[in-house]
Amino acid sequence: MDLSYILNILGEERDQYFDAVTPPIVQTSNFAFKTVADFRDAINTEQQHHVYTRGNNPTVEIVRKKIAALEGTDDCLVFSSGVAAIAAILLHTLRSGDHVICVKSPYSWTQYLLTEVFPEYNITTTFIDGREMSQFEQAIQSNTKLIYLESPNTFWFELQDLEAVSKLARKHHIFTAIDNSYAAGIYQHPHKLGVDFVIHTATKYLAGHSDVVAGAVCGNSEHIAGMFRRVFMGFGAVPSPHDAWLLLRGMRTLPIRLEKSASNAEMIVEHFMGHPKIERIIHPFHPSHPQFALAQKQMTRGCGLFAMILKTENKTQVEAFCNSLERFLMAVSWGGYESLIVPACIKIGDDYPAGFVRFYAGLEEANVLIADIEKALQYID
Ligand SMILES: *Cc1c(COP(=O)(O)O)cnc(C)c1O
Repeated sequence: MDLSYILNILGEERDQYFDAVTPPIVQTSNFAFKTVADFRDAINTEQQHHVYTRGNNPTVEIVRKKIAALEGTDDCLVFSSGVAAIAAILLHTLRSGDHVICVKSPYSWTQYLLTEVFPEYNITTTFIDGREMSQFEQAIQSNTKLIYLESPNTFWFELQDLEAVSKLARKHHIFTAIDNSYAAGIYQHPHKLGVDFVIHTATKYLAGHSDVVAGAVCGNSEHIAGMFRRVFMGFGAVPSPHDAWLLLRGMRTLPIRLEKSASNAEMIVEHFMGHPKIERIIHPFHPSHPQFALAQKQMTRGCGLFAMILKTENKTQVEAFCNSLERFLMAVSWGGYESLIVPACIKIGDDYPAGFVRFYAGLEEANVLIADIEKALQYID
């Protein structure tokens, strides 16, 4: 399936809604039946029917088909946030007494769930350096049920060898899941490399306009069917039809937005690489990245996220640098039209150097962004 077929045609049933080019927002909580027999049939096989919007909704279904097709899986569930999607995978694959292997420095709320919440239900996690295959092998226990990946992660941009990890997991009957938000369903396809579950925050690139919070889990039909009742309907973190429609609207332009954001990041990285006031730039698809060979093997490109470590230990200088940027907003998240920074000095963690700043390149002109950083570097000496 080509990309434009997925984004423009797949899942659209225009003859059902006046041949309108854009599908309607089916903003309803429930669906009515004409006979008791139909009602009984639908309620007993809810996954195949429209009964209630905490289960299926026609607007949401279009998005489900498209995201599943992007990742090359049978099916997908769309959630009300990326974290709801992450929690759903943990709840689907784990039971009391189970053990998880997770890469270190995953998304902050993934870390929170695995260290603060799931231990209360007798589920433990070993965090490992996912750059080393031997660390996966050594961490496997008899009760290990899930290997949780994030490649690359979105602050240090460390990679895991997805094919090798999937192979190892399969040998030991362990599930694999990856937070693939970075690659936006376009620059990396983990399911094709053997990963069981592919998770997205749709809040970022997929929706792309900083106006929706949503998430998705992609997997095979058997698993998605298993998740539908228990963790989707049962926990109820479903998207509103209106948010699903905004997500769909955002996805129409995903490839060109992604391309612009990625090329902006590449130009900024290229321009500042080796700059005397910058200690290091971390971008997973740049030849200077220690895992560039692996990146080339399993990804087709890097996206708009990268980090700079400014050459200073002086936090006042780092703050002055950040405060003076005019084209990079200071805010969490990424994947929208606007460029952003997150400096580590807002206390995102313990092991960051003082000069660490995470950048997201949005859709502005590259030369404008470069000039803005150039100007702000005057505060670093
Ligand atoms: C933002 C983010 C999430 C969480 O998504 P929400 O939609 O905010 O719940 C998960 N993973 C990564 C990599 C993210 O950047």
